[in-house]
Amino acid sequence: MSGGCAAGFAVRTSFERHYVKDLAVNAHPDAVRAFNATPPVRRKFFAGSRGAYRAGHHYVVAPQRWERTVDGKVWVGVFAHEIGHAIDLHGRGPRGGRSLWLAPAIRRDRAAMPPRPQPDFGRPRRGEFERALCAFPDAARAVLLAWLPADGAAGRFAVAWADGRLEEAIGGFIRLRRTTAVVSACREDARLQLYALAKVGDFIGAVYDGRRGGGHARTYYRELPPLIGPSLTVGHPAEAFANAYVCDVITGMELLSFLVASAAPHTHAAYRVLLRCIGEGRCAPSPDDLPVPAV
Ligand SMILES: [Zn+2]
Repeated sequence: MSGGCAAGFAVRTSFERHYVKDLAVNAHPDAVRAFNATPPVRRKFFAGSRGAYRAGHHYVVAPQRWERTVDGKVWVGVFAHEIGHAIDLHGRGPRGGRSLWLAPAIRRDRAAMPPRPQPDFGRPRRGEFERALCAFPDAARAVLLAWLPADGAAGRFAVAWADGRLEEAIGGFIRLRRTTAVVSACREDARLQLYALAKVGDFIGAVYDGRRGGGHARTYYRELPPLIGPSLTVGHPAEAFANAYVCDVITGMELLSFLVASAAPHTHAAYRVLLRCIGEGRCAPSPDDLPVPAV
């Protein structure tokens, strides 16, 4: 089976077709090229296990009824995350994925990131909403306003983000959208947006080893081979890469990619350079690489 979709993703299997058709029509072109430069992943099902990429075997563990899973559109996001891992890890050995190249950028971001600020329990400062929203790129602001239509909600998010209260902004978004996701006619879209914002938090957690952001616990990273001590293992750049990839290919990528780029600008810039190299076929596997454990 072959073909394509509006964004230019190759569609080589029914598994890819099912999810790729729901990715953003304006997905980042380098993300599309990197996908097309990676051999199609296979799909496997194991009872009690799903949403994982097995690098040595190049398959994604998917639900048994993957075409009609109860997770609905959330699986578009899970697919994007696991494909991010596939692009990074395909054909690589136990030394880690192509994303190892992000490590120096991660260290630069860590050196520059202030500690997690205290939550701001003060009254919403409505006058600041407009100014903070204007600091977002036009396309990112448009997505934020569409996703948080309630009065003042987008402005509150923008103020928290501008103040460096990233976790508060993400947590507030998820709480608000979870409520509307129950009743909204666009329930499936809202569920995917919740997943995407959680992946923004997971990206930040990976870059800052949990000192900022959320997502994977430190214990997860500590079990993976260290790169530079236990706080920078092969898992940190791998999860940062997969989550940045989600933010490049999900509908609303104008907002999502702005959030991850502003939270960790060095890591995100390095990720984009790496993504372009992969798409150009300059990061092909080397023959002495061996399978790596699943992440
Ligand atoms: Zn992952």
